[in-house]
Amino acid sequence: MSEELPHKLHKTLLGTLNVKYLCPKCKRTLENPLAEAGREDACPNCSAVFKVPGKTVQMQHERQRQSAKAKAENDSKSKREQELEKQQSEAIRLEEEREEKRRVAEAIAAMKQIEQENARQFLQKNHSGYVYRVEQFHSNFQDCTTNLSKFINHFSEQGWEYVEYIDVKFWDPAGCLASLLGQPGIARTVHLVTFKRPALRDENGDIIPFKQ
Ligand SMILES: [Zn+2]
Repeated sequence: MSEELPHKLHKTLLGTLNVKYLCPKCKRTLENPLAEAGREDACPNCSAVFKVPGKTVQMQHERQRQSAKAKAENDSKSKREQELEKQQSEAIRLEEEREEKRRVAEAIAAMKQIEQENARQFLQKNHSGYVYRVEQFHSNFQDCTTNLSKFINHFSEQGWEYVEYIDVKFWDPAGCLASLLGQPGIARTVHLVTFKRPALRDENGDIIPFKQ
């Protein structure tokens, strides 16, 4: 390329590059498209044969074009990679967010479980350890002591320990018919006997309530 003729580049109105140089023989100014650099040509004036200069520049241009193309491809690729990375990090962020919510929910559930367990242990520790039942006692006047003894012993034999005896008075309002007949109601007394026995516990240690 060292034997290239001295030349200048000239941009045409179409945006393409021309190479401008002097005929090595008659020194007339000549111009060719840069694409023709390196080809043999003849001077239209003196017919001298020479190689159109500009090959070095043309090759530089080609290298720049290739390099620009490669850079554009690379940029586009890195843009895609960036987009992919962004999507991935967003997915990771969402996953972490879900994981965090799950951890919080688990912690709350664990706390509730601990609270329930504490409440259960408190009840178990502070429970009297007895269950109670109340039964109504009926008797006539003459046999009341005998009957009450029998009544208490009957439950005692079943494991129910006597606690107390009370009379409860209440006003039994008249039914529809009775109130139509002008009867306001009747005072009643019930005799209630309370028994207790040690509470039975289930497999969790909880008291099994007594069912009448
Ligand atoms: Zn010439």
